[in-house]
Amino acid sequence: MPDEMARPLIRGRGERGGSRCLEASMSDPGAPVVGILGTGDFSRSLARRLVASGYQVVVGSRTPKRSAALFPEEAEVTSQMEAASQADLVFVAVFPEHHSTLVELKPTLAGKTLVDVSNGLRINLDGPSNAEQLADLFPESSIVKGFNTISAWSLQMGPRDGSRQVFLCSDSSKAKSSVMQLCRRMGFIPVDMGLLSSSLEIENLPLYLFPSWRIPVLCTVALFIFFYLYNFLRDVLHPYVTKKKSVFYKMPIDTVNVTLPSVALVMFSLVYVPGLCAAFLQLWWGTKYNRFPKWLDGWLTRRKQFGLCSFLCAVLHAVYSVSLPLRKSSRYELINLAVKQVKDKVEDSWDNAVVWRMELYISVGIMALGLLSLLAVTSLPSVANTVNWREFSFIQSTLGYCALSMATLHTLLYGWDRAFDSSRYHFHLPPTFVLVLILPLTVLLGRLALLVPCVAMRLRKVRRGWEKSRHIRFTLPDDGSHNGLEDVSHV
Ligand code: NAP
Repeated sequence: MPDEMARPLIRGRGERGGSRCLEASMSDPGAPVVGILGTGDFSRSLARRLVASGYQVVVGSRTPKRSAALFPEEAEVTSQMEAASQADLVFVAVFPEHHSTLVELKPTLAGKTLVDVSNGLRINLDGPSNAEQLADLFPESSIVKGFNTISAWSLQMGPRDGSRQVFLCSDSSKAKSSVMQLCRRMGFIPVDMGLLSSSLEIENLPLYLFPSWRIPVLCTVALFIFFYLYNFLRDVLHPYVTKKKSVFYKMPIDTVNVTLPSVALVMFSLVYVPGLCAAFLQLWWGTKYNRFPKWLDGWLTRRKQFGLCSFLCAVLHAVYSVSLPLRKSSRYELINLAVKQVKDKVEDSWDNAVVWRMELYISVGIMALGLLSLLAVTSLPSVANTVNWREFSFIQSTLGYCALSMATLHTLLYGWDRAFDSSRYHFHLPPTFVLVLILPLTVLLGRLALLVPCVAMRLRKVRRGWEKSRHIRFTLPDDGSHNGLEDVSHV
């Protein structure tokens, strides 16, 4: 591995024999000539990829003699002017700050296609984009934005490694289709993003850092900290303060294992809260044409991430639970219990209610985890693409609510009658499961309310365009293909 890392990204002239990265290394003399301005990392990788795909490549440099050795023999390294005049399609592999130094090529590049591969330093929401600025500098050329989301490394390795999609946009459909063709020939998948006005979005793509994950992850961490401290206070600090009993050893496994399912259930409930809010708002407004508040819009689009964070906590809870009997402390507890029972001359410690409670809550918990895994798998784009909207909605909503009911039942069975036992209220704080159950029970009740026939019918009408204020009256055909469950299925 260290050898692999030490190997230069680009092999120069005379090193061709050892190249593993390129499928072919002969350019076709009849193939179109592609120009590249700049001789940096990106340019060198692009040149090798183009040569391997059978293109004739001419690279334009301010100092061609100095840079020539870095390129494959098949590529011609010459002056910027010479490269610009030889090729009809020219990649601008120069930082956007230096685009203005290329203006003397303007007459030579007139009527030609320029591909802007540049990225910004930070997210630019206001524009103009680098590509739009390049279009202002070269008004007589056709500007295509693209390849900025592909790293020099991916280019060199080819589409076998890294991202295969290349997002492209341009105001000239002819220029865009020629770049798309080149993309396909290089083994990449072009994605048409429309006009050059989309270039800002394309330039921002590589700069985002998990934008849709930030709030769900923050929520998970915040809930984890809250429930961990709550459980620590009740289960670790309380025995120490009241009985001088040190159970701090519980902190790494026991306390974490009570915290994880709490976070999982609350996060899973949060997946269904925005859908319910949206449905109740639409019922309240009597129209679906009012815009949801921004926070609700954002929440609705992040439901998948909330669900996956919940899934992670549920899986960790399962793994921690399975490992509980492996601990030394658990074995000591069992031995101590057995010794105590012998001392107290307890003949039969079998408690039917306790046994049933455990059997049931473990079984329901496993089923909830199974359903949650199914939801997580179907949220993968490759799987989601193989089901139609009705199937997706059935899995994510109907099965999702089944999973939520199972997880809630798992917690209810775990709690059993302990919510009514005052000795469980350490520091006057209710047991954790009591707090945790508030949200899922509210969500399930909200969902049940939406299934009441008159409410479901009204919601269905609103979602088909009925508006209270405009008094547009119509009745939906009752062809038996709809029922109350489906009407609110995407809640
Ligand atoms: P680089 O290694 O710094 O190369 C930039 C090249 O620009 C230089 O080698 C230089 O070549 C040329 N250049 C032309 N005029 C210049 C001037 N006035 N001042 C300085 N240099 C000038 O950069 P790079 O990594 O190849 O990136 C080039 C472009 O590709 C950037 O816009 C970048 O955002 C984009 N990009 C890079 C990657 C990547 O993985 N590296 C990925 C996506 C997009 P000569 O000296 O031979 O003229």
